[in-house]
Amino acid sequence: MTALTPELDTLRRVFGYDEFRGDQAEIIGHVATGGDALVLMPTGGGKSLCYQIPSLVRAGTGVVISPLIALMQDQVDALSALGVRAGFLNSTQMPHERQQVEKALLAGELDMLYLAPERLRVPETGRLLDQAKISLFAIDEAHCVSQWGHDFRPDYLQLSHLHERWPEVPRIALTATATGETRREIAQRLNLEDARHFVASFDRPNIQYRIAPKDKPAKQLLDLIRTEHPGEAGIVYCLSRNSVERTAATLVGAGIPALPYHAGLDARTRAQNQSRFLREDGIVMVATIAFGMGIDKPDVRFVAHLDLPKSVEGYYQETGRAGRDGQPSTAWLAYGLADVVQQRQMIETSEGDRAHKHRLGQNLNAMLALCETVDCRRVQLLRYFGQSAEPCGNCDTCLTPPESWDGTVPAQKVLSTVIRLDRERNGQRFGAGQIVDILRGKETEKVRQFRHDELSVFGIGTDIAESDWHSVIRQLLAREMLAVDTRYGVFSVAEAAGPVLRSEQQLMLRKEPPRQARRSGSGER
Ligand code: ADP
Ligand code: ZN
Repeated sequence: MTALTPELDTLRRVFGYDEFRGDQAEIIGHVATGGDALVLMPTGGGKSLCYQIPSLVRAGTGVVISPLIALMQDQVDALSALGVRAGFLNSTQMPHERQQVEKALLAGELDMLYLAPERLRVPETGRLLDQAKISLFAIDEAHCVSQWGHDFRPDYLQLSHLHERWPEVPRIALTATATGETRREIAQRLNLEDARHFVASFDRPNIQYRIAPKDKPAKQLLDLIRTEHPGEAGIVYCLSRNSVERTAATLVGAGIPALPYHAGLDARTRAQNQSRFLREDGIVMVATIAFGMGIDKPDVRFVAHLDLPKSVEGYYQETGRAGRDGQPSTAWLAYGLADVVQQRQMIETSEGDRAHKHRLGQNLNAMLALCETVDCRRVQLLRYFGQSAEPCGNCDTCLTPPESWDGTVPAQKVLSTVIRLDRERNGQRFGAGQIVDILRGKETEKVRQFRHDELSVFGIGTDIAESDWHSVIRQLLAREMLAVDTRYGVFSVAEAAGPVLRSEQQLMLRKEPPRQARRSGSGER
């Protein structure tokens, strides 16, 4: 039997749970005795208790810095229901509401205070905290301090000063996303290099990862929902507001209760849709990545991506919203040639210096490597976070292993076509469709107009199906052997293609399995 420490007593008495999970006991013990901590734990791992219990056990008020302003009221309500004295301060409050919370804080009547990072910009907040007795600082969603990350919040940069101003107050920073590199950046920016680091396993064994070639995405999505997740809650991520609206309308038209969520909707509609998603059963939320951080809905059965995420960290974070209850869930991504073109263009035209673009390019390349892998997706995903695993037997590549094939000659044909088009047509460059038409010897209007039927490469690729040519081009793009022109979205041959063009390098490509792997029934692994 475990000794009944004050922490365990609080877990049982206040939260009604029997035992700590994973590293919780150690983390909580460390922080409760005044230690600093950096905690990496996947979504659903139980991070909140890691600062809530030390806040209750230590004298004074635990201050939680959180970017999730829209959720603060819910969090405070949930704690109040458990008898915890909690309040929040953010800029959406009326002055008198704020004054009430401040009064309670100074009177020592708060166990926990949720604080939006933008409040720290206001000098009064510093003075307020000076007068209060603070038991700890918890920095939630700590990856928001990373300028390279996908959720950067400028206000998080000020959090480095917490330690200088209140050196005796212990700090705990928490995040569900961090490669070794991001983790070092968080530790450095938050002055947590000497803190104890707790890194939990990032494996989410109940999530089945699947990445399919994009064909007719709306139909693919409908198939997924109807055959595998009818009547179940899910999140569908799209890149643009337009495609969010379009996809939501398609689902509604097909009788599926879907709601849109993106930054272009007014705050009220967003709040309404979010609350319906949380409270009603079987709603499908179609959203941009603006949706989801901090959303605690245990029974999200699937997360679908209709566009390619910008990084593996983003992908992991978003798919992690599925199956927090531990039940079998699906992470499904449809990915195609146009995604690669679009993302490369977005990086080229993005603001920021060369180093920044390089970093974005690396993030994308890691995501593409995950898409094009012939190995277990889970192994690849965990390797990205510096963790090792055995092939899982429960992802699409494990269930239907894709073959690889020698694509050297087809790749040479594509590359030569791009070069010919470039040279012989005075720099007139064309997209993937035209390249495939030329290779397959298709006499289209556009082929005749530009006399592409006279090129020596015309019709040299009739032996390969159109969709396979798209797959070859996609993989050449993913490996940066083809580059994308920013203005016109057309291709040019990149330096990395040299060895393949000169037959010095064999190019093994992924062959798409004939049909995608399916989870049949529930519980099957
Ligand atoms: P995270 O913030 O890491 O995503 P949460 O703190 O929201 O995760 O916890 C996820 C869920 O697990 C919550 O519903 C929480 O109440 C529950 N939980 C956390 N710790 C325990 C525990 N020791 N025993 C039982 N349930 C727990
Ligand atoms: Zn696998």
